[in-house]
Amino acid sequence: MSSPTSGVVNGGISFWYADDGLPAVREPLAGDASADVAIVGGGYTGLWTAYYLKKAAPFLRITVLEQKFCGYGASGRNGGWLYNGIAGRDRYARLHGREAAVRLQRAMNDTVDEVIRVAEAEAIDADLHKGGVLEVACTPAQAARLRAFHEAELAFGEKDRELYGARETAERIRVADAVGSTWTPHGARVHPVKLVKGLAAAVEGLGVTIHESTPVTEIRPRHAVTPYGTVRAPYVLRCTEGFTASLKGQKRTWLPMNSSMIATEPLTGAQWESIGWAGRQTLGDMAHAYMYAQRTADGRIALGGRGVPYRFGSRTDNDGTTQAATVEALREILVRFFPALAGLRIEHAWSGVLGVPRDWCATVTLDRSTGLGWAGGYVGSGVATANLAARTLRDLVQLDSGQGGRTDLTDLPWVGHRVRKWEPEPLRWLGVQGMYAVYREADRRERTSHGTTSSRLARAADRVAGRH
Ligand SMILES: Cc1cc2nc3c(=O)[nH]c(=O)nc-3n(C[C@H](O)[C@H](O)[C@H](O)COP(=O)(O)OP(=O)(O)OC[C@H]3O[C@@H](n4cnc5c(N)ncnc54)[C@H](O)[C@@H]3O)c2cc1C
Repeated sequence: MSSPTSGVVNGGISFWYADDGLPAVREPLAGDASADVAIVGGGYTGLWTAYYLKKAAPFLRITVLEQKFCGYGASGRNGGWLYNGIAGRDRYARLHGREAAVRLQRAMNDTVDEVIRVAEAEAIDADLHKGGVLEVACTPAQAARLRAFHEAELAFGEKDRELYGARETAERIRVADAVGSTWTPHGARVHPVKLVKGLAAAVEGLGVTIHESTPVTEIRPRHAVTPYGTVRAPYVLRCTEGFTASLKGQKRTWLPMNSSMIATEPLTGAQWESIGWAGRQTLGDMAHAYMYAQRTADGRIALGGRGVPYRFGSRTDNDGTTQAATVEALREILVRFFPALAGLRIEHAWSGVLGVPRDWCATVTLDRSTGLGWAGGYVGSGVATANLAARTLRDLVQLDSGQGGRTDLTDLPWVGHRVRKWEPEPLRWLGVQGMYAVYREADRRERTSHGTTSSRLARAADRVAGRH
């Protein structure tokens, strides 16, 4: 009998591309050129930035330079949680006061609806379904963290968040061992590739120039340097997230953290019946090494988690190829959550990188003295955050060029935030490997001990890693 993972397609960028098709690649840059704004990276951050800038100022000459094709990075590989989480909010509350962090959170809540609004306006059919985000607890320690998390979210102004016990959770989704959950309406499921392809087409339709197969090797003030020529522009915006380390001088800026996913074969009607999940909420848990999942529009489960967290020397994966042990570990999570699905075939596995700054805080910045800007460091929550970052970059460019004033967005606490670089190797590798080994051990202990307090180990790892 064949195993559930035999015949799994491994890599190929992501399941989303297998589903929707790889795009035709646009023309590379053909020699030196000039623009008003050069954007490096054609993921959500770069494309949304081009979109909003061009909408605000149609006369701007904007050029996007993408090393492979738009959506090659995390934007074409993610779990499709379009939701209101933002990395670093708690630190921003400590640095700038709670009121500033509440403004940031409100802006994120609105961002989910903004993406849905633009997708509708631009006729981008990205399988969007606003069912909210449901996060479950499966051990007493997770339940304690769940309650604390729920309280914290209420305190950041999320009046519409709900807390469910075991029975109410089972009414929504039947996850084995779930003792409770928390739900927010500020989340939607999305097909990542349909969104990024639609966005690239919309941006091009507005008159933005996109060059693909064009790697930028160096960013200097007013210059984006590629092997085929240099684009000169008063503003050069770096939107390269998990790939940032490949740029000259950026090796230790953001750590490329790996995240891996699997997609199952489509479930039968009876299988869906057995697990519920009629609300199509995006699904997560409260483990230290957490999982995330969605019910896809074509009736599969796409589920992700950490896998091998980081490759020595800030290397990135090879078109999404994933270790067999990671595929098996993700399948085990699926089966632990839904034991009745033990025989379900895994059809696809893939990986991608996200950008992690040393203090785990997302940022958006425009350096007014050089015209260099950047946005990212979203850790694991960039699908919506990239949109907020892009609108903020638009406002910062407009402010700097005298076409606009300060706005609600330019005053948000993540604007202009700077942090030190990551340690050199081998410390960087050892630190991240160690941290995730501790998280996994802490999760295991919490499952077996049934204790109600979070593992001390995991709290210590958080402190060492600079997460809290
Ligand atoms: C497996 C996985 C699952 C995830 N799940 C979720 C989720 O469910 N919800 C969520 O909110 N977030 C999730 N994320 C994170 C989210 O996908 C990212 O934060 C978001 O897509 C970042 O968008 P971006 O445009 O900044 O970066 P990217 O999408 O990585 O885009 C960067 C682009 O820049 C290009 N590039 C890089 N270097 C250069 C260069 N030197 N020259 C030219 N081009 C260059 C790359 O090819 C790439 O296309 C996930 C990430 C991964 C990897």
